[in-house]
Amino acid sequence: MKEKYDYLIVGAGLFGAVCAYRATQMGKKCLVIDKRSHVGGNVYCEDVEGIHVHTYGAHIFHTSNKQVWDFVNSLVEFNRYTNSPVANYQGHLYNLPFNMNTFAQMWGVVTPQEAQQKIDEQRAEAMEALQGREPANLEEQALSLVGKDIYEKLIKGYTEKQWGRPCTELPAFIIKRLPVRMVFDNNYFNDLYQGIPIGGYNVLIDKLLEGSDVLLNQDYLEDKQAWNDKADKVIFTGSIDAYFEYQFGHLSYRTVRFETEIHDTPNYQGNAVINYTEATVPYTRVIEHKHFETFGADVYANPKTVVSKEYSCEWKEGMEPYYPVNDAQNTALYQQYAQLAALEKNVIFGGRLAEYKYYDMDDIIERALYVQL
Ligand code: UDP
Repeated sequence: MKEKYDYLIVGAGLFGAVCAYRATQMGKKCLVIDKRSHVGGNVYCEDVEGIHVHTYGAHIFHTSNKQVWDFVNSLVEFNRYTNSPVANYQGHLYNLPFNMNTFAQMWGVVTPQEAQQKIDEQRAEAMEALQGREPANLEEQALSLVGKDIYEKLIKGYTEKQWGRPCTELPAFIIKRLPVRMVFDNNYFNDLYQGIPIGGYNVLIDKLLEGSDVLLNQDYLEDKQAWNDKADKVIFTGSIDAYFEYQFGHLSYRTVRFETEIHDTPNYQGNAVINYTEATVPYTRVIEHKHFETFGADVYANPKTVVSKEYSCEWKEGMEPYYPVNDAQNTALYQQYAQLAALEKNVIFGGRLAEYKYYDMDDIIERALYVQL
């Protein structure tokens, strides 16, 4: 341990780790602390039965930013995993994202023309209700995008389970993440590049943290001043409302709970991700972790498999925050905290929690690559 560091980085997730890497490359000395007992934040994986288990939920790397892609590939090679989740609605399977396969399964249509005609019929009511204005919430957005059958079977139940709110109270942008395609293409993402680091995410994080001092099980907010004294600058990646002692009130987050099981079968569900889109099934999706990193016949090399059922619930103090709830009320509250953050000398706030944004991994890396250190 050094007497004094250039940077104290609070949080060893992707934002903190990329900042640590950049600072180290610049010849600066970093102390990275985390309140968990491991580095990596929510991309951390555990080894169970020789399978990398995404402890904090499925993380699939995808980006169209060549600089970000080249950056991560300079540290670790990526495999060819392509996310193509399947939705299970009352025992019927539908391909995601919404594409010609989904439309064929939903309506028996065969050509893009037939599918488009069906979608137009399905959207008509919603389009009329909008009368030319922009959709104001997720329900309006979904109905005007794909119409009522898909909304009711594949969106409504899943979304209301995930967010614990009616779709009419959720921002429209959430559903814009999902592409609608008139071709037979089950690739969930539109991005140019996609994959999982070979050897798992921990390899990437360890590379990023090379050269930094790391202390685990340390709660920065318990003794902010003592930690601040250790460095010239602070990079804070935790929850912004916690940093400011919730003085304006709590921001809302969704959190996720996992029930992870080991099964004595090599192939439990035939896909990494199956979404359960009906409201009555209590979990949102089931992840079978081996499919992120093994393909084809290799799946059978390990006679066991690990699956996680994902349950979504409202965050309360003491839980891990996962998703910021970017509705109007929380956005306004966040703005109040952001104003305080702008006044904070020598502290950089970054990442999903400190910026209260539904960032993907590539967004986080991009911001960490460009942030002025
Ligand atoms: N979504 C949905 N049905 C699905 C999968 C996703 O309606 O089967 C909606 C839902 O509103 C969700 C959003 O799409 O919040 C984004 O889902 P995604 O899987 O991209 O989110 P993640 O949890 O993986 O960040």
